[in-house]
Amino acid sequence: MYAPLITKPGSSLERKTGSWRTNLRPKFLQKDCIACRLCYLICPEGCISGKEKNTFISDYNYCKGCGLCAGVCPKDDIEMVPEGETK
Ligand code: SF4
Ligand code: SF4
Repeated sequence: MYAPLITKPGSSLERKTGSWRTNLRPKFLQKDCIACRLCYLICPEGCISGKEKNTFISDYNYCKGCGLCAGVCPKDDIEMVPEGETK
């Protein structure tokens, strides 16, 4: 009845879901990060990486701008900023 949206594990890697992004994207400030990994765990796209404090980043090729990472960060170390902002 319904065709599966994901036909095989990892198939989303073949599609640059970042092209669907809202006009906001997360900016990882890398100032007060405590490496709790909550952003990494909650990201529905699995596009956040990092291990040590102040090393977490998002792969914008896949980030859709949902803002969950910024909402969950206990240190407010992620800001949602307008697309194209570089500072
Ligand atoms: S905005 Fe959403 S998709 Fe992008 S890195 Fe944060 S949680 Fe992941
Ligand atoms: S949620 Fe915030 S404090 Fe935790 S790892 Fe991510 S950026 Fe660092």
